[in-house]
Amino acid sequence: MATRVLIAGGGVAALEAALALRALAEDRVSVEMLAPEPQFWYRPLAVAEPFDLGEVRRFELPELAAAAGATFSPGALTGVDAGSRQAQTSAGSSIPYDVLLVACGAGPSEAVPGALTFRGPADTEKIRRLLEEIVAGQVGRVAFVVPWGAVWSLPIYELALMTAAYLAEREVDHVELALVTPEDEPLQLFGRAGSEAVEELLEERGIAVQTGSCPVELVDGELRLVPEGTMAADRVVALPRLRGPRIDGLPQTVEGFLPVDAHGQVHGLADVYAAGDITSFPVKQGGIATQQADAAAEMIAANAGADITPQPFRPVLRGLLLTGRRPRYLRHELTGGAGDASAASPEPLWWPPAKIVGRYLAPFLGAFAGVESPPEAPSAPGAVPVEVEVDAAAVRELAALRLKTASGAEADGGSTVAEVMSTEPLVVAPEDTLGEVAEKMRAHDVGSALVADYGRLIGILTSRDLLRAFAGRVHPSEARIREWMTAEPVAVSADTPIEVAVTMMTEYGFHHLPVVDGERPTGMLGLRQAARQARGRSGIGLGF
Ligand SMILES: Cc1cc2nc3c(=O)[nH]c(=O)nc-3n(C[C@H](O)[C@H](O)[C@H](O)COP(=O)(O)OP(=O)(O)OC[C@H]3O[C@@H](n4cnc5c(N)ncnc54)[C@H](O)[C@@H]3O)c2cc1C
Repeated sequence: MATRVLIAGGGVAALEAALALRALAEDRVSVEMLAPEPQFWYRPLAVAEPFDLGEVRRFELPELAAAAGATFSPGALTGVDAGSRQAQTSAGSSIPYDVLLVACGAGPSEAVPGALTFRGPADTEKIRRLLEEIVAGQVGRVAFVVPWGAVWSLPIYELALMTAAYLAEREVDHVELALVTPEDEPLQLFGRAGSEAVEELLEERGIAVQTGSCPVELVDGELRLVPEGTMAADRVVALPRLRGPRIDGLPQTVEGFLPVDAHGQVHGLADVYAAGDITSFPVKQGGIATQQADAAAEMIAANAGADITPQPFRPVLRGLLLTGRRPRYLRHELTGGAGDASAASPEPLWWPPAKIVGRYLAPFLGAFAGVESPPEAPSAPGAVPVEVEVDAAAVRELAALRLKTASGAEADGGSTVAEVMSTEPLVVAPEDTLGEVAEKMRAHDVGSALVADYGRLIGILTSRDLLRAFAGRVHPSEARIREWMTAEPVAVSADTPIEVAVTMMTEYGFHHLPVVDGERPTGMLGLRQAARQARGRSGIGLGF
């Protein structure tokens, strides 16, 4: 009998996985796609819409699914019982599966209060209005900003460059444009050549760049920056912060992301895979989503009996920078220690030069739309393709560095976490049952437990998680901590200034913050004790 593969999601990763499975496993698998919306949105050209340089394309998902050899069911995945291999849906039904691939994407949320958050097509009109206001002389200073947490910053560069081109064409020269980013260099992920090419473009278009700064909020015409400073701005356009949808029974991070291995398997759960923006890989990009989908599909196909050797996910970033003018192509290979091999050229470096590159998806969508390659790229003036082979560890480090920039402070001689934390946290194992841990928490009179695997902190379980699990009617002696904990928790070291810890806790809404030495859990910080210690000292707003 064919392996029943349930794909939760109907976006880039889901479709690529369905296509890859059909190609690799053929009739060894049956594929069902479950998604709340019956449309597939091709979003990258959202940045071009306000300038009338492109439009977001929409495809009917049931038709795409059928063409990819899958069935389509409407509904959202709300929970997973990995033990009995059942997926719960928003319609209140359960779908049995042999293998589950979670590809539910991530939703945008405001990262910089006071700014116009650009989420995609929904904000086209807001950008159009902003352009009208600028042209009418009502707005004199506009900052385009990358908030902490956004590792994929390309769309904000595109918006800034296209705004400049749009205004130059209309001979509007009274406006000051700026770009603010926590990156060390513009488009840092794309290496030196990428950064230099973009810097050149920004300079050409008169856009001032401020790197190493985290935009926090816009108040009364002042954009507040961390670690320090402000910038005068009438309007700020910001990228959103992304979060995965909450799905019961899966080990999600505080942002709702799922930690996976190099083959897309969700840590510790048999036959559950994830791909795309919902994974905890920090770069949220369509091309990356398709590569993760391919890695997962290869593993699933091999397990279903296909004669292939599954290859691990090796991230290669390919992008197409829309600039509003003459095309330029960028490429970068970030080869962990092997040097920086990047290039910028006026020719495409892969084919088809689509905004979202997917081995199966790009030609499939092209064929579906009745063209040889996806239609958008050639029609977008000034498009710049970008290609980077990414060192996954380096990207994670970059994300961590951003957090450091955002939290700003080095210890300034004031109190540190070490002075307030409890040094005997309750530490439990991922395979412990909910019932066992609830009992231990009661006995220790604590509201949370740290979850460690071979001495490494992998999660935190709070009484709120226990409530959530019990409300979902799981069996306390069967459900495992791993399925209900918050994975890869935000943690601090003991020498973190107390104000930084308190700000992180209030901004995230945490009552407990794990303390680590490297990856080893060494303590727990409670909000009440920490706030008491920090009282009287000024807090540092992180804006998340
Ligand atoms: C403005 C903008 C510009 C971008 N530009 C580029 C670009 O130039 N190049 C590039 O490569 N990428 C770009 N991206 C990013 C790219 O669109 C995403 O990285 C990519 O779509 C992620 O794929 P995904 O399958 O993980 O999620 P999505 O494509 O977002 O799909 C998620 C799917 O899951 C469904 N879903 C949600 N919740 C549930 C649930 N609970 N159960 C079941 N299904 C659910 C949704 O309805 C949707 O079908 C851009 C994104 C935006 C917003």
